[in-house]
Amino acid sequence: MADAPDNCPFCGHDYTFILNGPVEGDWCAVTCDKCHARGPINYTDPHAIAEWNTRATPPAAVVEAMERALQNIRELNLTAEDENGHKWANSELIDQEITFSLAALTAWRDAQ
Ligand SMILES: [Zn+2]
Repeated sequence: MADAPDNCPFCGHDYTFILNGPVEGDWCAVTCDKCHARGPINYTDPHAIAEWNTRATPPAAVVEAMERALQNIRELNLTAEDENGHKWANSELIDQEITFSLAALTAWRDAQ
């Protein structure tokens, strides 16, 4: 088994680390420090690294569909207002997350 996780398959970032559950030995997963993608949950670091390093890469059609969905959500979110004409209280946070996801997807696609 590999000793270290590969670069992030989504954003290409080279700093990935093992995220551990609150109790040692409870669970662990490789996590990207940049885009916060997380690998499958495991119970040992070597298994978490092995699954991260061999995870399937999404086909381009899936990425494009996700981009379309995120764009639609963003447009809906940006126009959603309450009865007083105010934006949703969490719209900035949601938009930030969508922007982050799109950037990660775009970076991954462009790296292919
Ligand atoms: Zn990443």
